[in-house]
Amino acid sequence: MSTNQRWNLKCLAAAVITVLVVFLFLNHFLHLQKQKLQADEALKSSVYGNLLWTEVDRELNSLLFISNGMASFISAYRDDLRPEKIQFILKDLWQRSKHVRNLGVAVGYKITYVYPEANNLKVIGKDFRDIPQQWPKVKQAVDTRQGVFDGPVDLIQGGRGFVYRYPIYLDDQYWGIMSTVINTDDFLDAAFKNTPKNHQFAIRTHDNKKVFYGDPQLFTDKNTYKQTSIVPNGKWEWAIKNHTNTFTNQLLVYQIVGFLFSLLCGVMVYRMIHAMRRLSEQAMLDSLTHLPNRRLLQDRMDVAYQSCNRLHKMMAILIIDIDYFKKINDTYGHDFGDEVIKTVANGIKATLRDTDTVSRVGGDEFIVLLKEFKVLDNVHAIAHKLTEVFASPWLVLDKEITIHLSIGISVYDPEHPVSIKELLKEADIALYDSKAQGRNRFNFYQK
Ligand code: GH3
Ligand code: MG
Repeated sequence: MSTNQRWNLKCLAAAVITVLVVFLFLNHFLHLQKQKLQADEALKSSVYGNLLWTEVDRELNSLLFISNGMASFISAYRDDLRPEKIQFILKDLWQRSKHVRNLGVAVGYKITYVYPEANNLKVIGKDFRDIPQQWPKVKQAVDTRQGVFDGPVDLIQGGRGFVYRYPIYLDDQYWGIMSTVINTDDFLDAAFKNTPKNHQFAIRTHDNKKVFYGDPQLFTDKNTYKQTSIVPNGKWEWAIKNHTNTFTNQLLVYQIVGFLFSLLCGVMVYRMIHAMRRLSEQAMLDSLTHLPNRRLLQDRMDVAYQSCNRLHKMMAILIIDIDYFKKINDTYGHDFGDEVIKTVANGIKATLRDTDTVSRVGGDEFIVLLKEFKVLDNVHAIAHKLTEVFASPWLVLDKEITIHLSIGISVYDPEHPVSIKELLKEADIALYDSKAQGRNRFNFYQK
């Protein structure tokens, strides 16, 4: 795997980690936000549930007043309980009440009076003990001596309704039972008419789980708030859903946006690392030729120097300078001179192996680092090849010009160690000799 590929892989890994970290962080934040909103929602639903229950309780209390009124009447007129009087009081109570379908009075357990009589005469004479669907609640009211709320039940006279059974005791003796039959829908509509409509809700009886108001599915919905409230001698269960909260529905959208944002962060990290690498590379390269500059050359020489000492191998330094370059500049201009420098850079590079370092260290001067050669003759051959390459004219920007190079060479032998600085100085002296000997040639430093 090349250095570039390895670098790309590292950048990619950093980007993927960034995407994951940002996405997990955002997701965690969304999760916390969702929990908070769900808690708010539950609180709102609970407040709403209590409001609903208060309204129902108020309507139920009005039923209690009717039953109490009847019980007081019977107690007061116990010695003179004429049927027309009872009919009269039933009529009066019925007219005062709201959404009561009919009132009935059973003496003992036998239904004796009913108002209004129209459509209800069928029930007169019936004994509660013979009505299996209704007897348990009647018995419960008698046994507990308390009002019992039953229903919705199938009524004998047809239809369905709630029935409030209220037992009447005279001097601690059971006398009979009063039944107040309520129109379920009227009763609940009246109870809920003033409540705001920002929630959806359903109600069912605790005993048989029969939903008598609202959408039954709310009881299977995990996101609904559930509560239980006590009705006279029984329980109602409520399922309440706040449909003003849209966060849960939008969660997926938020997650998608979060994921896209994470991707964006990942791309940004990837590009940032690449840009940083380019900048650090540029700091090591010559801007005109893109060859390593003096700094990078120094690094490479340090590494090569240590390796030579460790492995007892030789290395060579070639300082290459263009002959009479000022003249080229003066004749053709500075820009043309730049092109010549680039041409020379490419020419030198093409002559060497990839493992050798060619650097531009300033002006028209290049330094080549040769390492791991087998015999000194190889260095000689390379220097010769370099002067050969530039022996014939070159085409630069459609102009044919002659470019000659002078080269100074120093060889490092670990058997006779010198410092890198000295090695460079030796190559410089050799270059000076080449210039002095008429240029367009190479010279090895002679110890
Ligand atoms: P010599 O044969 O002794 O090497 O003489 P020379 O004319 O090549 O002169 P020398 O090497 O001493 O100086 C190199 C000149 O290159 C000096 C400067 O004007 C010119 N130069 C330095 N940097 C650049 C550059 O980036 N672009 C161009 N076009 N010219 C440069
Ligand atoms: Mg020169």
